[in-house]
Amino acid sequence: MALSREAIVEQLQKIAGPEQVITDEQVLKENSHDRYRKLQSVFGIYALPLPAAVVKLTDVEQVSAVLKFLNENKINCVPRTGGSATEGGLETIVENSVVLDGSGMNRIIKIDADNMLATAQCGVNLEVLENQLRAQGFTTGHSPQSKPLAQMGGLVATRSIGQFSTLYGAIEDMVVGLEAVFPNGQITRIKNVPRRACGPDIRHVIIGNEGALCYITEVTVKMFTYQPENNLFFGYALDNMKTGFAILREIMVTGFRPSIARLYDAEDGAQHGFDQFAEGKCLLIFMTEGPKGISRATGEGIEEIVARYDECRKVNTQIIENWFNHLNWDPSKVQAERDFMRKNLNLGFTTEVSGNWSCINTIYENTIKRIREEFPHAEDLTMLGGHSSHSYQTGTNMYFVYDYNVVNCAMEEELEKYHVPLNAMIVEETLKAGGSMVHHHGIGKYRTPWTKEEHGSAYYILKALKDVFDPNGIMNTGTIYPLK
Ligand SMILES: Cc1cc2nc3c(=O)[nH]c(=O)nc-3n(C[C@H](O)[C@H](O)[C@H](O)COP(=O)(O)OP(=O)(O)OC[C@H]3O[C@@H](n4cnc5c(N)ncnc54)[C@H](O)[C@@H]3O)c2cc1C
Repeated sequence: MALSREAIVEQLQKIAGPEQVITDEQVLKENSHDRYRKLQSVFGIYALPLPAAVVKLTDVEQVSAVLKFLNENKINCVPRTGGSATEGGLETIVENSVVLDGSGMNRIIKIDADNMLATAQCGVNLEVLENQLRAQGFTTGHSPQSKPLAQMGGLVATRSIGQFSTLYGAIEDMVVGLEAVFPNGQITRIKNVPRRACGPDIRHVIIGNEGALCYITEVTVKMFTYQPENNLFFGYALDNMKTGFAILREIMVTGFRPSIARLYDAEDGAQHGFDQFAEGKCLLIFMTEGPKGISRATGEGIEEIVARYDECRKVNTQIIENWFNHLNWDPSKVQAERDFMRKNLNLGFTTEVSGNWSCINTIYENTIKRIREEFPHAEDLTMLGGHSSHSYQTGTNMYFVYDYNVVNCAMEEELEKYHVPLNAMIVEETLKAGGSMVHHHGIGKYRTPWTKEEHGSAYYILKALKDVFDPNGIMNTGTIYPLK
């Protein structure tokens, strides 16, 4: 028989200690959702079932004991660290769920300058870790826009990526070893070695699991030498995204690795204040870094390649430096956004996808065209555009950005009227063209309808992981794996 809400709380208090089990109603409300419902939370609307409790986790043994109890009693849990998720991964859609909050596990365990390894608990804020490393002449190389908000557990669980990814890679390129706890209470540690050929790379069962397979308690990432004095900036205005994708491709396949390589369409560029420099055109921006000679040679390579495209015009790089100096979202920006939404009933979302070089422009063009022609409330859109911000040897991403006024509908209906259909059009056009429906925010709960289509025959492997590691289905129900 299912345990009552009161019995769940009572048992959790015995396992974790009464002061670690929070049942305050406002805390439960705030832990029932994430930024997918950011407008509703501004107006105090919490439509999802409230969790039975939020457990403030303290150490790996306690995580193990709590998970074992939840598993034995088939109680759904939602892992959480920084709380900056954007895709519904933190939504408590099951009655009497338990939120497992690891933000208190915030100890930097070791900075190993010899082996270039930094080990941190899941609740360590990335900015805190990065600042400590920089003070010693190192960097993680990881710089998502949410750096001041996100924590190591969530960053690994979502396969996050930072703004310097074209040089340093994404989180999966940075993670060396991990500690994670599975629902049956099993604690697992993957050791820190530079490379090995000892069967499949099991780190990838954990990286990107979005709390749907296990709880990440500790992470070891690579460290790099920090040498910002060698950073160089380059920027070009151009007429077409298609040309921009071709230039990005040429730079990547020739072998250059700028840390930043971004292509904005005119609408998104204007939103960032770039239009005064780019004069309403598309914009390409680059930053090169690393040892002086490499940074300079990379910059020269970029300039040589871009010079072959007549449509490109160099822009004042001051704008890129200004942008670079205001990269990240801190809590003050979150508050400013809330105030703006409340006052203007205008809000913005993003959907990020990826595709090989041969299909990325098709994804971009078809998506924008379809939204403009088919979205029934196109007149309420105040901005539609996007940028490519992470490039690879084989392709790049496209980060669609859409803002809209909420017109003639209750706050509760905003998702269904605007966000859900816009997100669906982007996902559908991407899959149709052969791309991937999620580049870096995670599947969360709103792209699960397409998980099977995304993976095709390989869904067999993904499903087997759930069947083996979470047979009772207690880990973040509805995330990654579609509801039955
Ligand atoms: C303003 C803004 C900018 C952003 N910019 C970027 C960006 O540049 N790049 C990028 O990749 N993302 C970005 N994001 C998305 C978000 O910050 C990332 O997905 C981040 O990795 C989430 O980390 P978090 O600690 O906040 O995790 P949370 O929000 O707490 O959780 C995210 C997901 O991971 C799961 N999870 C959390 N902790 C654990 C754990 N210990 N074990 C297992 N599962 C866990 C949760 O269940 C949830 O599904 C941005 C978000 C915002 C709000």
